Amino acid sequence: MTNDQPIKRIAIFGSTGSIGTQALDVIEANPDKFSAEILTAQSNDELLVQQALKFNPNIVVIGDEKKYQKVKEALSSTDVKVFSGVKALEEVAAMDCYDLMLAGIVGYAGLRPTLKAITSGKPVALANKETLVVAGDIIMRKAVEYRVPVIPVDSEHSAIFQCLVGETRNRIEKVILTASGGPFIGKKPNYLVNVKREHALQHPNWSMGAKITIDSATLMNKGLEMIEAKWLFNLKPEQIQVVIHPQSIIHSMVQFEDGSIKAQMGLPDMKLPIQYALAFPKRIPNNFPRYDFKKVSSLSFEEPDVKTFRNLQLAQDALQKGGNLPCVMNAANEIAVFAFLRNRINFLDMTNVIEKTMEKVPFIEQPTLEEYFESDGEARNFAADIIKL
Ligand code: NAD
Ligand code: MG
Repeated sequence: MTNDQPIKRIAIFGSTGSIGTQALDVIEANPDKFSAEILTAQSNDELLVQQALKFNPNIVVIGDEKKYQKVKEALSSTDVKVFSGVKALEEVAAMDCYDLMLAGIVGYAGLRPTLKAITSGKPVALANKETLVVAGDIIMRKAVEYRVPVIPVDSEHSAIFQCLVGETRNRIEKVILTASGGPFIGKKPNYLVNVKREHALQHPNWSMGAKITIDSATLMNKGLEMIEAKWLFNLKPEQIQVVIHPQSIIHSMVQFEDGSIKAQMGLPDMKLPIQYALAFPKRIPNNFPRYDFKKVSSLSFEEPDVKTFRNLQLAQDALQKGGNLPCVMNAANEIAVFAFLRNRINFLDMTNVIEKTMEKVPFIEQPTLEEYFESDGEARNFAADIIKL
């Protein structure tokens, strides 16, 4: 971006999360390029207020309506507009005052505001992978209809996206998604059954929100990412391969029809894909630590163990079968992770809850948006019943 380009006004949905706070770091480091125009949070009113005082956005949304007064009062000396509630997220997503949405809400809750941004003609930098897992066909169809770019933020998909720059006329043979393997790589079920929440929350390479950290430990995250890749890059299931790469230096790869493979590499740091998505198509300088080949011992690769980490197998089944099955799987997974984080079920129970829910909720081959919403609700209820939540 040159100096004569206008400042890009960013709406950060989920500004208090891991992605949201790192996006604000990127904005803070580049005040000549970006401004934070909208900030939203579900319940962390204190951080939201701090962020608003620092970045002076046009609008903040606090999801939890009980906290509206508190936020309003804390910002009474500013001209920041304060909204609250689920509906406000969609209303704000439709507003004219911003140029790019960073979709950084976690889970199914991100779907409606992201869809609203797209149907309001707003480009989206997408971290919220669950949106594509639930209703990827509708999201991508709407993005084409409204001619808005959906730029991936997830590091693997950002890597693939970066490998595809300049390759628009060339067909992809396959993509190779790398996975760190999480904290329990090489472990077997007799070990996993006793894993505690605190242990599962320790990811070796990335510091992230709680839900995605558990998803990384179960390998569900990689399953969600396979489905995300299908929709973002218009791939068939058999064109998507997962390989375990514990060092997380290669962020993913694309293999073309001539057998040539392109990889995108670097130290594991989400600020890079966030910055790339905000600044796309430009690359902008930064002072993030650099990868040093002289200090590396080795880069290694292995097959994922889907017999032990069965969530990845379930996700591959959902990817193959399509329809509402990924949506159902995602809902059951959100409930299972929620229950695990509250010590209500053990690590392996999560898989059983998801599997039973996938068997139970009726299959719909080509769901409408309403049917996706219904499938999500049915799956949540069924999964919660199994756990007796
Ligand atoms: P997080 O838990 O740290 O933050 C979630 C954000 O969403 C918070 O700001 C929270 O207030 C908001 N939120 C939570 N529930 C909400 C609800 N019901 N309604 C409205 N807002 C709600 O999560 P995160 O790690 O930042 O992940 C965000 C998304 O990005 C996820 O979909 C995740 O899979 C994806 N992602 C994250 C990373 C990472 O490094 N953290 C990497 C790749 C992809
Ligand atoms: Mg990822």
